[in-house]
Amino acid sequence: MNLHDLVRPNIWNLTPYSCARSEFSGKASVFLDANENPFNSPYNRYPDPLQVELKRLISAERFISADQIFLGVGSDECIDLAYRVFCEPGVDNAVAMSPSYGMYQVCADVNNIGYREVPLTDDFQLDVKAMFAAVDSHTKLMWLCSPNNPTGNAIDIGVIRDVCQRFHGIVIVDEAYGDFSSKGTMLRYLDQYPNLVVLQTMSKAWGSASVRLGMAFASPEIIAIYNKVKYPYNISLLTQQYAINAMRHSEDVRRWVDTILSNMKVLVNDLQSLPCVRHIYPSDANFVLVRVEDADALYDFLLARGIIVRNRNRVRKCLGCLRITVGTADENNELINALSEYGAK
Ligand SMILES: *Cc1c(COP(=O)(O)O)cnc(C)c1O
Repeated sequence: MNLHDLVRPNIWNLTPYSCARSEFSGKASVFLDANENPFNSPYNRYPDPLQVELKRLISAERFISADQIFLGVGSDECIDLAYRVFCEPGVDNAVAMSPSYGMYQVCADVNNIGYREVPLTDDFQLDVKAMFAAVDSHTKLMWLCSPNNPTGNAIDIGVIRDVCQRFHGIVIVDEAYGDFSSKGTMLRYLDQYPNLVVLQTMSKAWGSASVRLGMAFASPEIIAIYNKVKYPYNISLLTQQYAINAMRHSEDVRRWVDTILSNMKVLVNDLQSLPCVRHIYPSDANFVLVRVEDADALYDFLLARGIIVRNRNRVRKCLGCLRITVGTADENNELINALSEYGAK
């Protein structure tokens, strides 16, 4: 793979904005370089544009070198950047498995990039042959999501490696739910596949969706280009401090994940006994996709009781399905009680 051939020429040639905080990064005691207000410390100062301390902690936790980590305002920024770095508007395209996460298409549309959806098989496996059949000489990106939203299942690591091996563009593997899965991560193959980008997020297992912190892991060359294109101070001091503290308490995350996974077992078991439930798809994430008797009616029924699930009835291959996030034991019980009433009516 030649990165130069994949990156848009204007991005490859871009001279990034040189902010005060990156021009001088040594030790000093008097900062008169950035037109900051000298009062209201520490919020008066621009934050570290490259989030060095936070990346050091993530590096130690995920066993990935700090120069292979990019931090964005949620995965959203990491998704959008992939298009802006690699895809020429009106010319290039991306190939994606479907159904999957809606933001891949939204960002493609915003950037005027072709978006080619390739249906998963009926048991939600990747149709590798069809993915490659959708590729042409302008295909720069392939989107894989594992474990996948909304189906819940992880894609076999061997299948993902095969795609990385054979595709000549960039393969982006979204592992937003990876912390819930026992099926493995692509992180350990970063050095083997220079065209691989892995996305993770603090929004799910880390319980920090409101904070907006997403991570992209890739080769140092790709990360350097992402850093060039992003807004200089995309991650605020508040977010960096919050995340540093969260990284130091990663045992909380393990506890939450364990609890959520054991709650999911109970939830699936309880769902199985309900007459309105037709099928529960296996999940490697913190939600289950459930095929029910009448998804729209059931959705409205739950809504009237103040319980919101995600109606996936109009999504490809998800006809009749609701996507249910695993909550606390009490929340799950409320759901089950409501659903039993529906069955009894
Ligand atoms: C929830 C989710 C994310 C998280 O996005 P953020 O912008 O980091 O909150 C990313 N990818 C998928 C597939 C998701 O379901």
